Amino acid sequence: MAVAEAQSLERLNQLLSRLRERVPFYRDRLPTGGLESLHQLAELPLTTKEDFRQTYPYGMLAVPLPEVVRIHASSGTTGRPVITGYTRADLDLWAECMERVYRAGEVGPGDVVQNAYGYGLFTGGLGFHIGAERLGCTVIPTSSGVTQRQVMLMADLGTTVLTCTPSYALVLAEAIAAEAQRPPLKLRVGFFGAEPWSDGMRRQIQYGLGLEAFDIYGLTELGGPGVAVECHEHNGLHIFEDHFLAETVDPETGVPVPRGEPGELVLTSLRREASPVLRYRTRDRTILTDEPCPCGSPFVRMLKVHGRTDDMIVVRGENVFPSQIESILLAIEGLTANYQIVVDREAKQLDSLEVVVEAAPHTDHDRLQELAAERIRETIGLRAEINVLPPGVLPRSEGKAKRVIDRRSV
Ligand SMILES: [Zn+2]
Repeated sequence: MAVAEAQSLERLNQLLSRLRERVPFYRDRLPTGGLESLHQLAELPLTTKEDFRQTYPYGMLAVPLPEVVRIHASSGTTGRPVITGYTRADLDLWAECMERVYRAGEVGPGDVVQNAYGYGLFTGGLGFHIGAERLGCTVIPTSSGVTQRQVMLMADLGTTVLTCTPSYALVLAEAIAAEAQRPPLKLRVGFFGAEPWSDGMRRQIQYGLGLEAFDIYGLTELGGPGVAVECHEHNGLHIFEDHFLAETVDPETGVPVPRGEPGELVLTSLRREASPVLRYRTRDRTILTDEPCPCGSPFVRMLKVHGRTDDMIVVRGENVFPSQIESILLAIEGLTANYQIVVDREAKQLDSLEVVVEAAPHTDHDRLQELAAERIRETIGLRAEINVLPPGVLPRSEGKAKRVIDRRSV
């Protein structure tokens, strides 16, 4: 990591002393004194989502509440949400990071940004909003949903940049394809995140919307989007290392794994004032690579997230990520990214795996069924029952798609 290692170390030591001084949760856990090298980071304790829940609502704040000018929270539907706070300086910093996200696609003044991420507690909406405003773009804060109106505004207002979840990008692409006459669109680039998505899905989004699709990364615990973004190579996301330190650890043991090997992404926010976090276990599986990128960026790359530990399903002892199934399906011509995975337990306590997937119109469902079953067996080593459906049958999502239905726990 050639990127200003000395600067990172200095920021890390400042962070440690702030955490010790101001956050009781960290006070007892951190050793006294500073670190002499970034390698010593691995000796510090990890922070988990459970720690956020235990200290809910304000236990992780490092500033008095009056200094907090904004609160966001995770979109989780059960239990206590994860709370993250921002000082005025944090909002500036966030906007700066989001500006950098847009710059990856040469977005600037003159661009019309249609922001179809949900506005509200979720970080996506307001995060993409402040970045685009700061850059001087024209922002259309549509939020998610009301698809027909999104398409109309996209055409009428000359949207050049689209931001939303990849699932919703597909819904928009479908709506455009369903118009009697394709509306005249000026879409150029799109930034899609908040859920894992495959390169197969990228191809469908790019084709359907006529834009270059960038994967972005961030999470509520680290302040939302603006942690990493792809470059034009689309071969991994560059992590903004001047703001976030990245490591990967073994998801079972928490022990660091070397660069180039798969592991769970762990992030430290170096500069956040209100809600700084040390070594947060993201539960996202990725590979960090130091290999130089042809784009010339000095920042380390995280390869496209292939799954979140939470999303991983264990079927007959095999670990399966929905995105693996997605890649297999989308490599088959005629199948679409509208799919669901249904796991159930049969009478003999054997897990059954069913994949329900929509096909394009006028396709041979029997042949697609056979092909998909065969590829899944070859790639994952599991027998799956494939159910190919006509277009438009499965539910559509305005935010994150629900990919797995696990009936075993019911
Ligand atoms: Zn690059």
